Amino acid sequence: MNENDTEKMYILLSDEYEPTQNPEEADLILINTCSVREKPQHKTYSEAGRYKHLKKKKPNLIIGITGCVAQQEGENIIKRLPHVDLVLGTQGFYFIKKALETFRKTKKPVILTELKPDFKIPLILEKENTSIFPNKRVTAFVTIMQGCDNFCTYCIVPYVRGREISRAPEDILKEVKELVKKGVREITLLGQNVNSYGLKEKGYPDFADLLDMVSKIDGLWRIRFTTSHPKDLSDKLIEIMANNPKICKHIHLPLQAGSNRILKKMNRKYTKEDYLRKIEKLRNAIPGISITTDIIVGFPGETEEDFKETLEMLEKVRYHEIFSFKYSDRPFTVAQKMSNKVSEEEKKRRLKKVHEVQAKITKEIYESYVGKEVEVLVEGLSAKSKDMFMGRTTTNVIVNFKAPRLDLKGALVKVLIEEAGKHSLKGKYLETLKI
Ligand code: SF4
Repeated sequence: MNENDTEKMYILLSDEYEPTQNPEEADLILINTCSVREKPQHKTYSEAGRYKHLKKKKPNLIIGITGCVAQQEGENIIKRLPHVDLVLGTQGFYFIKKALETFRKTKKPVILTELKPDFKIPLILEKENTSIFPNKRVTAFVTIMQGCDNFCTYCIVPYVRGREISRAPEDILKEVKELVKKGVREITLLGQNVNSYGLKEKGYPDFADLLDMVSKIDGLWRIRFTTSHPKDLSDKLIEIMANNPKICKHIHLPLQAGSNRILKKMNRKYTKEDYLRKIEKLRNAIPGISITTDIIVGFPGETEEDFKETLEMLEKVRYHEIFSFKYSDRPFTVAQKMSNKVSEEEKKRRLKKVHEVQAKITKEIYESYVGKEVEVLVEGLSAKSKDMFMGRTTTNVIVNFKAPRLDLKGALVKVLIEEAGKHSLKGKYLETLKI
């Protein structure tokens, strides 16, 4: 979502600024931030501190901090870093043009951190026949909603992104159509909890119907979405995933913990049994679907027994990949006030164990692809080797492959998988299916 917000700022500023990779050259530096864990928050301060000397050399340089840390910290940022000029929160960054104008007039820091419950996410499109993104893009993100009403006890999102707001379906369709016109073939619909899309707004489709509407756009080949809250994953959505060939066979379904006691303390509103039932439904309806997840280790009060249940869930579900984190206290949350915190050392040990167990499962799953023919949407040249292409399967697995043709970016090709790596596959190009 942050990447997507950054793109929106690029577009908003594109008539005044050009992007540069070199901070020494910049007239405006924006640090778009995440505060979901403690580490990125610290990084924000050190990153912004690093640009102080540039401002001395170039007094007209404008420095801004945007996104979740801006939302969370507000004017504290200016107190700690007086060389920062703009602090624009998760709704405030949409008004960057206005904020710059005000700053240029007043030369005083501009802080926009109000969260309005009736905020409408604006429609921001690139101008016709221009692209500020230097390379043709094959995949793109589209935000369909912002904020969250779930208040999981460890999570800062409802406080920094505000209450859940769904975007108007016509704006979403317009944005997807524009991206497809520019050559995008795969769209990822983004929201903190996409499964509750549209439920609060009168006259909006629900998420399953929205997927159906988006899938009707000509020229769009693939649709992904993230993130799904397990409690809101409906049978209707599973059915539409099973029957609509444009929807990729992959779901990211955050488990967080395998113990019902910890799930309750996390306020996740499902049990591990509920979760496993949903997995079974998904696998029955969509054979070959890949499932990925998020895991938190060391939530306050997590015992060795609780932790073992998380490991058991990894073995039971057999995820393609997981994203695992050590619990960290976040401001405003309920969990930060809980007792029985797990020591840093123990969290480290548990995280290592999770990595070990999952690495074995991922390896086995990736090896099962060897010898199979898969459809790959080519995203460009491989980062590993410039004489290879890189793309993804419908199950969201990265595939690197050699091919005789040099114009495959954006094509859907068939690849024979010959080798499994730790987090990717290697194969041989067979034929082009669509271009
Ligand atoms: S569902 Fe829970 S973890 Fe996800 S954004 Fe909302 S509060 Fe955070």
